[in-house]
Amino acid sequence: TNRVFSGIQPSGDLHLGNYLGAIRRFVPLQDTHDCIYCVVDMHAITVWQDPDDLRRATREVAAAYVAAGIDPKRAIIFNQSQVMQHAELAWIFNCVARIGWMNRMTQFKDKAGKNSENVSLGLLAYPSLMAADILLYKATHVPVGDDQKQHLELTRDIAAKFNNDYAASIAAQNVGQDDGSFFPITEPLIAGPATRIMSLRDGTKKMSKSDPSDQSRISLLDNADGIAKKIKKATTDPEPLPETVEGLAGRPEADNLVGIYAALSDQSKTQVIAEFGGKGWGTFKPALADLAVSVLGPMGEEMRRLVEDTTTIDAILRDGAERARALAEATMVDVRSIVGFIR
Ligand code: ATP
Ligand code: MG
Repeated sequence: TNRVFSGIQPSGDLHLGNYLGAIRRFVPLQDTHDCIYCVVDMHAITVWQDPDDLRRATREVAAAYVAAGIDPKRAIIFNQSQVMQHAELAWIFNCVARIGWMNRMTQFKDKAGKNSENVSLGLLAYPSLMAADILLYKATHVPVGDDQKQHLELTRDIAAKFNNDYAASIAAQNVGQDDGSFFPITEPLIAGPATRIMSLRDGTKKMSKSDPSDQSRISLLDNADGIAKKIKKATTDPEPLPETVEGLAGRPEADNLVGIYAALSDQSKTQVIAEFGGKGWGTFKPALADLAVSVLGPMGEEMRRLVEDTTTIDAILRDGAERARALAEATMVDVRSIVGFIR
């Protein structure tokens, strides 16, 4: 079977990048795959989260999933910490993965900055927990933004090393696939025009929840006025839009805004340039703002409504956790015996 797993951290305000790079792409996969969409609260605490903010943000991610069109009866929606098998498998993977692998991760370097001795140990081990999230369900496909590509490669490395280190035990326990492996080598699903949305303030930095500047991102909860203002103030060079799509090269801010327009209107950048090439920002930005409001407005409204209804959201998370736990425990029964843990 084809199974999809993906997750989003409740680490701040969800933004346009999370929507275009991840959430929006989760919806159609429900028709073709078993889908598991997680709110990865254990990942979020790798950097400090105020407990009340964490609770609110957890419900907000769940609300975004539902508002975007994920059906909690078909797909599994749950928060990671309710299924303790994630932590259990992550520990085993901490003992499979090498420190050198973690030290090479660009997200760790970016998030740790110059302060790498004084960030949490969890931030370094983050990809190990992410591998556990995915492999616990033997997921075959993982839709994520381009920034997660390196972490997914590490997931594949961890799966391969586990399969290899424990090959004899997998065979002895008779729990392997035909090729002798236990975990699948997961495929990333990273495609389309909007796999990396950049900050509105700096076209060389990705849009992030953890960026301290609220002006750097369009939040899924921004109202129409807020969205329009942020787009109007977005940093650009002074030149008008190029006449051809090749003219976007070396112009990261222009490239980003054209890419956002393309993704929101389901077009290619070439089609957007065919319409707006040679026009100034005074024409393009209001058109982009209208488009963004028309797509994000209704979803934001639905999110705001759902977030208030904590009883419903918490019930969705609890029901999803129950279904996830059954799948996760089935994997862990085998993993414990492969590793040699007595029960
Ligand atoms: P944080 O700053 O706390 O890491 P984030 O904005 O990077 O937050 P994550 O929860 O780490 O969000 O990632 C959730 C999903 O959104 C992932 O699939 C990730 O690849 C995707 N994503 C994050 N930022 C962008 C972006 N700027 N463009 C496209 N996809 C993105
Ligand atoms: Mg991130």
